Amino acid sequence: MSFASLGLSEALLRAIDEAGYATPTPIQLKAIPAVLSDKDVMAAAQTGTGKTAGFVLPLLQRLAGGPKVKANHIRALVLTPTRELAVQVEQSVATYGKHLALKSGVVYGGVKINPQMMKLRGGVDVLVATPGRLLDLFNHNAVQFAQVETLVLDEADRMLDMGFINDIRKILALLPPRRQNLLFSATFSSDIRKLTEGLLRNPVLIEVSPRNTAAKSVKQWVYEVDKGKKPALLSYLVRNKGWEQVLVFVRTRNGADSLAGRLGNDGITTAVIHGDKSQGERARALADFKAGTVRVLVATDIAARGLDISELPHVINFDLPKVPEDYIHRIGRTGRAGSTGEGISLVSADEVQLLAAIETLISQTLVREVVHGFIPNHNVPLTRQLKVRPKKPKKPKPVQEQGQVRKTDGEPKNSGHKPSRGGKS
Ligand code: AMP
Repeated sequence: MSFASLGLSEALLRAIDEAGYATPTPIQLKAIPAVLSDKDVMAAAQTGTGKTAGFVLPLLQRLAGGPKVKANHIRALVLTPTRELAVQVEQSVATYGKHLALKSGVVYGGVKINPQMMKLRGGVDVLVATPGRLLDLFNHNAVQFAQVETLVLDEADRMLDMGFINDIRKILALLPPRRQNLLFSATFSSDIRKLTEGLLRNPVLIEVSPRNTAAKSVKQWVYEVDKGKKPALLSYLVRNKGWEQVLVFVRTRNGADSLAGRLGNDGITTAVIHGDKSQGERARALADFKAGTVRVLVATDIAARGLDISELPHVINFDLPKVPEDYIHRIGRTGRAGSTGEGISLVSADEVQLLAAIETLISQTLVREVVHGFIPNHNVPLTRQLKVRPKKPKKPKPVQEQGQVRKTDGEPKNSGHKPSRGGKS
């Protein structure tokens, strides 16, 4: 099945061709005709399935034939949980819509509101927004919703996890009642179902399995947090999420010991494996962890190598590894053989270069979250705007391709981005 047979216009087909896509992904095959036919859609799809193009392409096609957008108005609203995702989605809108005369924009919190107000002045056809900032803009009279034809909730489950339900409900109340609604979510919890009840009219239900097996078995994301708050956040997550068997990677022996001490003080049974531990101590720690008498095993990369532990439910990167390939080894401990696992990284602003290197290696931008009570004072800059710092070439100068990942040697330097205080959205 080709994109052309899905009924997409020539301008969109040309952009798809230029993006290098030969055939639609399973979710695109289902979502594109549904959206084109004016149906509401409820889709269970994770990142990596091609879901963004699945809603952006038909959305653009429908908007292209419609009325001109008025000043300060918008015609389609895409809500996302994070600024990172908002930026990515707007980039997709710009890429797929480059041969159409439609305007798009993106707004999110943590940055000055004025430039966003200016951008909205002339009206935009597609606005991608995080919920809190959108409401701020509405309260400044910078955006009006009377022309909204389509609403998209992208990664709805994460929006609820991040506490945006009240903001979403406020926004829904402001939108015209006659509109198309598209909801994308990796999971369908009872909270999501409750939200969809009043929102979707006879939705087309779409479910597809993720495109690559890594995405199927390991859910990966990042918690942004200030460095000094990491031990408290980990302790909070283990206790509040009810994690029972957690492998935590820490970069140094001292770091491993002090983290284990902290977790122990909080009443979490913890063992440590690192280079200073004897063979007997390591074997005992591992046996206790496997038997479930120890809830958290804190390990350094080197000590963990060769350990017979896999298929764990949760692997945590307390520190990001200096060598990006170690990220893959660490995450490989979870979610094997069909079972789902979670690979979670606690990332502080000074680790942004390491994060960028990992994301380049895995060809994936990791979704970011913050936890209420642990919102960082120092934002982790967007990795898309960073280049991975190349290793200084030794003589004779090797020819290096741009964008290639190299091992970083030394502590990550400050990226030069001024840390700023930002809200959740
Ligand atoms: P998403 O799940 O929307 O985050 O998309 C995941 C990646 O798949 C993005 O990098 C897209 O550029 C890419 N992609 C989307 N649709 C296709 C397609 N039909 N063929 C190849 N790559 C695609």
